[in-house]
Amino acid sequence: MTETLRHFINGERVSAETPVLSLNPSNTDDVVARAPRGAEAEVEAAVGAARAAFPAWSEASPEVRFDLLDKVGDTILKRRDEIGRLLSREEGKTLAEGVGETVRAGRIFKYFAGEALRRHGQNLDSVRPGVEIQTYRQAVGVFALITPWNFPIAIPAWKTAPALAFGNTVVIKPAGPTPATAAALADIIYECGAPPGVFNMIFGPGEMGARLVEHPQVDGISFTGSQAVGAGVARAAVARQARVQLEMGGKNPLVILDDADLDRAVAVALDGSFFATGQRCTASSRLIVTDGIHDRFVAALADKVASLRVGDALDPATQMGPAVSEAQMETSYRYIDLTRSEGGRIVTGGGRLTLATPGWYVQPTLIADTHRDMTINAEEVFGPVASIIRVKDYDEALAVANAGDFGLSAGIVTTSLKHARDFQRRAKTGMVMVNLATAGVDYHVPFGGVRSSSYGAREQGFAAVEFYTQTKTAYSWA
Ligand code: NAD
Repeated sequence: MTETLRHFINGERVSAETPVLSLNPSNTDDVVARAPRGAEAEVEAAVGAARAAFPAWSEASPEVRFDLLDKVGDTILKRRDEIGRLLSREEGKTLAEGVGETVRAGRIFKYFAGEALRRHGQNLDSVRPGVEIQTYRQAVGVFALITPWNFPIAIPAWKTAPALAFGNTVVIKPAGPTPATAAALADIIYECGAPPGVFNMIFGPGEMGARLVEHPQVDGISFTGSQAVGAGVARAAVARQARVQLEMGGKNPLVILDDADLDRAVAVALDGSFFATGQRCTASSRLIVTDGIHDRFVAALADKVASLRVGDALDPATQMGPAVSEAQMETSYRYIDLTRSEGGRIVTGGGRLTLATPGWYVQPTLIADTHRDMTINAEEVFGPVASIIRVKDYDEALAVANAGDFGLSAGIVTTSLKHARDFQRRAKTGMVMVNLATAGVDYHVPFGGVRSSSYGAREQGFAAVEFYTQTKTAYSWA
């Protein structure tokens, strides 16, 4: 079945021409949805509606916001199988991953329902006798949320839920390749009774995102996507003093030391590098392995990678689905060819993959003998391709892990408490994992990176209040 999508503006589902096709990456004969291509008019209407709705929503009892978010969370959880299936059909991650992501989105709404009741200020003693000081956290206004395709329900959820919980209104522009999954979330938010204008979702190209960023009535922008686009978003937002937060790419290192439990190291690398088709900003794309375990690790991991069942995302036996789009598939093959030409050794994978259905499949690929300065070790691939860098000891491993521009997530597999602790302290990333994959995080704690990976206040969990509220300091003398 092909869905026909509409914009969600001011409490209405607004019909429009739907020239944009969302294709199933596992079988491109299957059209998942037809989406509208919005422009200036939709941006104006949605921002205007969000602006008009802000005063009442920001002053509503926190219980009203709790009730909406709690109901949205419950509804998502109830419909996890149906939405998870739609997600997998549209994005290409496996059914288990699609349902898992949907559950995460539901849990996020329920977590932030509680946070709506917990927004609090402080009473402080003044340094002056008789003076009292209070700080308040107040809603900011209208937020533009610009999201990528790789977590098509979780990322819209982790931006929308805190924005609404703390009394802001929202215009969200989801990514081009996954509009139907985003629309499923919008449908639920409308069905659960969001007042008109509080939540708006408009579909269209990147230029619409740019218009939102420049719009004088938009007070804050939360962007997740590529580094190239994010840099422009930051420039435009800062130029007009809008609040801005960016979550971007990664080139996440996983260090494997000689003393690692080999099975654990292989399981962690397989998950981090290849699950979700490697299309996670936190994917382990550089495997940095010390001499003593290198050959055993490469052989054992290659075995597992070669036996991964790649196939239709909706087939329960599939362990790795396709790339989201032809462009992503070609990007993986381009980096594989480049690394081969620069001297990398393909241990497994590397060739084109043709299956029964026409889809954007990529062979999971492991490349050994790469040098820390090769292109593959500097640029994000965003596909099922992992490179291996051989190092002599922990110190060299740490130096290689910290090289480059990105700083999202880093991991180490070791049985040494000393090295684990040292790595936790000295990895130049926002998140660090010991004996765990670099990808796969909890929803109730802060998320984000440093250096080129992130900019601005942290997202998610108890940290989200910083971005979605502003502090007022009140002094009084009585
Ligand atoms: P992208 O940057 O191409 O697009 C992201 C969003 O920005 C889309 O909605 C797009 O339409 C919009 N956009 C495009 N041009 C714009 C412009 N000029 N102004 C404003 N908005 C614009 O990224 P993508 O291909 O959708 O997603 C993949 C990228 O996302 C990867 O680099 C990945 O690492 C990153 N990502 C990061 C995180 C994180 O939290 N760090 C999470 C998921 C994905």
